[in-house]
Amino acid sequence: MGDALLQIEDLHTTFYTRDGLVRAVDGVSIEIEAGESVGIVGESGCGKSMTAMSLMGLLKKPGKVDGGSIVFDGQELLAMTAKDRRKLMGNRISMIFQEPMTSLNPVITVGRQVREALLLHNKGMSRSQAKERVIQMFQLVGIPDAPKRYGEYPHQLSGGLRQRVMIAMAMVCDPGLLIADEPTTALDVTIEAQILRLMKDLQEDKGTAVMMITHNLGVVAQFCTRLYVMYAGKVMESGTVREIFKHVCHPYTDGLMRSVPDMKSKERLYNIRGMVPSMLHLPKGCRFCPRCQYSMARCFEEEPQIYEASPGHFARCFLFDQGKGEKRP
Ligand code: SF4
Repeated sequence: MGDALLQIEDLHTTFYTRDGLVRAVDGVSIEIEAGESVGIVGESGCGKSMTAMSLMGLLKKPGKVDGGSIVFDGQELLAMTAKDRRKLMGNRISMIFQEPMTSLNPVITVGRQVREALLLHNKGMSRSQAKERVIQMFQLVGIPDAPKRYGEYPHQLSGGLRQRVMIAMAMVCDPGLLIADEPTTALDVTIEAQILRLMKDLQEDKGTAVMMITHNLGVVAQFCTRLYVMYAGKVMESGTVREIFKHVCHPYTDGLMRSVPDMKSKERLYNIRGMVPSMLHLPKGCRFCPRCQYSMARCFEEEPQIYEASPGHFARCFLFDQGKGEKRP
């Protein structure tokens, strides 16, 4: 890849709990180019949101980034002061969360909240200029009757409109990177489609790079060009969406794909056997081995590294060790 806008290299984030160390992010490397839309996929607890929180500097105790590097636009975020990092967040990097109600202040009008976010990063702007810009942004994200909605409180808006307000807030400073953590999970399917369409249009118009965190492969297929699949704190497979959907490599990704409901199929829905392991008691060897139908003796002893299954397509699986790339699940 060329010069990445975001380069996460061998990131380690650990929670120091009373019961032991939880390595929530265990050597994760991710690259995102300017204007690119990249999906981070996996089941709950696989480390995808913790990767984003580490990047945003939003980890809470007892969590701590204890290794690796996060370079954004040539700057090492982990070496920055908290103040400099705060300046960057919300301005050059912004984030949309799953449930807007928890991110919006219930006692301040939505317009004022977005205006304050804008003023925070644009000191020379007057309040009336900022208000005008926010109303334009509300119109851009499809909020009907934007000047009236500007003066309303979060509880007066539907879930879909609240998420549009969050998108307006995230995009109002024209960030280079938008992190969207399950942005449509709390919405109805019809609203989900509208919000994804809106995000895609904004991303294309403004050239914003997007990190889309989701458990939903359908969202990835619609929205992303590249994909990282995470399991138990590690990236298991990465490559272009087109290549992975055509030639899936890792047995875990294969299981995720086969678990997507198909309304036309009469076959019983597939589910990956077993459970996601406790992060306090990970299995020896490949952490997917207790659930993997292709596991071999070696998988229970050694931890697989990342192998290049085909150009630009990587899998953390012994099936792809040295010329065995033809052994796809
Ligand atoms: Fe399955 Fe072994 Fe590959 Fe792990 S390394 S995914 S257990 S085949």
